[in-house]
Amino acid sequence: MKPAIADGHVVTIHYRLTLDDGSIADQSFGGEPLVYMHGAQNIVPGLERQLAGKNVGDKCDVVVPANEGYGDYDPARDQTVPRSQFPPKVELAVGMAFQTRNRMGQPMTVWVKALKDDQVTITGNHPMAGQRLNFSVEIVDIRRATNDEKKHGHAHGPGGHHHH
Ligand code: ZN
Repeated sequence: MKPAIADGHVVTIHYRLTLDDGSIADQSFGGEPLVYMHGAQNIVPGLERQLAGKNVGDKCDVVVPANEGYGDYDPARDQTVPRSQFPPKVELAVGMAFQTRNRMGQPMTVWVKALKDDQVTITGNHPMAGQRLNFSVEIVDIRRATNDEKKHGHAHGPGGHHHH
């Protein structure tokens, strides 16, 4: 008997993510399933919360509001900076993600939102910020995390992280 989904379990799912305009933003059906550790914030909070208690074989539709998904869109997180602030060799494109640090020195991701002349608009809003996320999920497998996985906060093995 497999345990139901709870914190500290490694969960394998197939999923399809559809936006409100009907477009499929992402899906694993037809490819490799997603393997994640429950309770370790590997997936968006609203999906993680609503998958708790599910069992292997369950199929469910999970609607996640923006504030439990990739966040509400916050215009204050948009910033326009001169092109010269980026390395000249980097070819910039809309949608490109960069790792940077915020004022507190914590790592954060920013995305290129717009390019105009020698100005670059970057944003701390995830490209799917402000969107409701409509997931169709099938629970494929559930197992207890190993001690190493618990320490690392992510799944190891097939579909998970590989360390050298
Ligand atoms: Zn690890």
